[in-house]
Amino acid sequence: MFRRTTQEHTRRAAEALRLVSLRKVYGAADSAVTALDGVTLSLGAGTFTAVMGPSGSGKSTLLQCAAGLDRPDAGQVMVDGEEMTGGTEAELTKFRRQRIGFVFQQYNLLPTLTVAQNTTLPLKLAGRRIDRDRARDILTQVGLGDRLGHRPDQLSGGQRQRVAIARALVTEPSVVFADEPTGALDTRSARDVLRLLQAAVRIHGRTVVMVTHDPVAASYADTVVFLADGRLAGHLNAPTVDAVAERLAHLGDSDNDRGSDRGDVPAGV
Ligand code: ADP
Ligand code: MG
Repeated sequence: MFRRTTQEHTRRAAEALRLVSLRKVYGAADSAVTALDGVTLSLGAGTFTAVMGPSGSGKSTLLQCAAGLDRPDAGQVMVDGEEMTGGTEAELTKFRRQRIGFVFQQYNLLPTLTVAQNTTLPLKLAGRRIDRDRARDILTQVGLGDRLGHRPDQLSGGQRQRVAIARALVTEPSVVFADEPTGALDTRSARDVLRLLQAAVRIHGRTVVMVTHDPVAASYADTVVFLADGRLAGHLNAPTVDAVAERLAHLGDSDNDRGSDRGDVPAGV
């Protein structure tokens, strides 16, 4: 049983998300759009991945399918080694509420609920005990420990997004997906949000997958994966702002690295 190398063993044991040949087509016949054209990707637990690519390349579709908010037409999504695809709608919803967190560009907070109520909503929906101390702790971690009774419209955009992050983390999910979480924020609020996502990975061992068009945001991740026309088009480990900008500028110049990267992206993650 000790034949496997330690590295292999660790990698196998710690895979948080695996996408296998994910495919999604919108519409039918003449108007069909292939949004995902066979995406295979494996992400280790406790990693931070940014997804980048041109508008319309399938980034949001990838996140929605990987997060169980939408169903792929073909392929599999495995979270912690368990298949999420397949099963009934109710089973999918239950699984998603236990294992997945999601952060949207426009926060998606409920305006009539307080900050504390918004944060604990996923626990309520999952039929779990509403732990007020935990809500307070997590809101303190995102710098909003003194805003528990406020409503979203009393908060800035950056603060609202921090509530959304607290809400995404409250269930202690394996994987947190964020679609352009800094897209509507000023530079400083964006940095706060990125640091929180990074802390969720580094301190709490969550796995974060974030779509962004901003090379600065992407540089907070461990790895950037690039999408073009619904397919993986390479990746970059330990991304710097300049390296990301450079790759984005040349995305689609050549199909060379598309084929070679499919199926084994990203190495070591
Ligand atoms: P991105 O997030 O990278 O901009 P999307 O995943 O939103 O890309 O979209 C990928 C492709 O699928 C685009 O061509 C888009 O127009 C199409 N698409 C996305 N959502 C729908 C939908 N609900 N109905 C039809 N086409 C869609
Ligand atoms: Mg999008």
